[in-house]
Amino acid sequence: MVSLQPDFATTADALLGLFPDGSYVDDSGELVVAGLRVSELAETFGTPAYVVDEDALVRQATGMRTAFTDRWPNSRVVFASKAFPCTAAYRALARAGLGIDVAGGGELTAALSAGVDPAELVLHGNAKTLEELNLAVDAGVGIVVIDNFDDIDRLERIVRHEQRVLVRVVPDIHVETHEAFATGQMGSKFGLASPEAERAISVLRHSDRLHLAGVHMHIGSQICDLKPFAAAVEALVRFGEFDVYDLGGGLGVRYTYSDDPPSFEQWVGTLVEAAREFLPAAAQLIIEPGRSVVAGSGITLYRIVSVKPGSPTFVAVDGGMADNMEVALYDQRYEATIANRVGGGSFVNIVGRHCESGDRLINGVALRDPVVDDVLAVPSTGAYCFALANNYNGARRPPVVFCRGGVARVVVRRETYDDMLLRDVFDS
Ligand code: PLP
Repeated sequence: MVSLQPDFATTADALLGLFPDGSYVDDSGELVVAGLRVSELAETFGTPAYVVDEDALVRQATGMRTAFTDRWPNSRVVFASKAFPCTAAYRALARAGLGIDVAGGGELTAALSAGVDPAELVLHGNAKTLEELNLAVDAGVGIVVIDNFDDIDRLERIVRHEQRVLVRVVPDIHVETHEAFATGQMGSKFGLASPEAERAISVLRHSDRLHLAGVHMHIGSQICDLKPFAAAVEALVRFGEFDVYDLGGGLGVRYTYSDDPPSFEQWVGTLVEAAREFLPAAAQLIIEPGRSVVAGSGITLYRIVSVKPGSPTFVAVDGGMADNMEVALYDQRYEATIANRVGGGSFVNIVGRHCESGDRLINGVALRDPVVDDVLAVPSTGAYCFALANNYNGARRPPVVFCRGGVARVVVRRETYDDMLLRDVFDS
């Protein structure tokens, strides 16, 4: 992905545009997010740290819900919690009126422990085990999304009263995104394509225990072109008429100066326009955004550990691919700034502390005179970074700090070295 390289003044402004709404640079030159000076957040909570502007998170969720219900009153926004499976986020988003999509037993357990109403949960997975389905059915999840005939067989064995289900279909739609993100094309491992989808629908229509409410599709992630979304809605027509259509997530977000994704209003506008043309007027529509709900309200803070001048100059920080797998997995490009010298400077490569060359955070980013112990802030890291955090090289997974109106609180503490040894069984 290409990033524009604006001059110094534009860079400071352009950078602020990537941080949560309301972020600013104070008179001393310090970046302020959610009313808090970023260097002080780093001092108080340590680094690396995931910082979330809670108001920005809730505003985004509420805005999406309103935009959708304004255009299609019988509709629901369900947060794809794989993007940020943190109990404080489950709680904040459920309170903001969103349902929650969980992929498997772990996310289901986290959502339940956050106090989410089980009826508001949608269970996903292309390889749901009997244990996971039992957990879901016993908890009373609202909807189970059927991915395959084995899901049907297992549910038929364990459901005692009635379970609402959707069938995940393959709409046969190609999208412009990283190939690992595309899921709606023929040959996808997710869902059922014709004619197997029609067969599953027919089997479910005759089931006593499984109540087929409708169909589900999800065409991919980080999609910045709206046309495939409309085409995918049209593609649902061939599967029949239903009470519920779950149209998935996938809206792209802004990571860099040059990214220009559609707004969520444009996204739901496109989906609703296609639904008006192709789907029954009385149907309930569900969307399942993940990335676009949480990405923009999250930032990651690091401390610079080493500056190795050269060509390129390497700026090494105290985190890396253990707290942000997006770069290594998907070549995701980010921008960054020193917290108290925002924008501009010379181009450097920011790298992590892990033992492989693939552990790079950002190639060719302009930083103003980076030195050891500076705090580095990387915007748009609210999605899939916490979710994919790992212990590579013994890294302790970072804390999550929620900030609101000048007050910060830890909602996930930093992992300790003792935590990392907890599962080890020591035999003498
Ligand atoms: N729904 C399903 C079934 C998914 O697999 C995903 C992501 O992989 C999403 C929703 C959320 O997608 P995104 O985070 O791109 O909005």
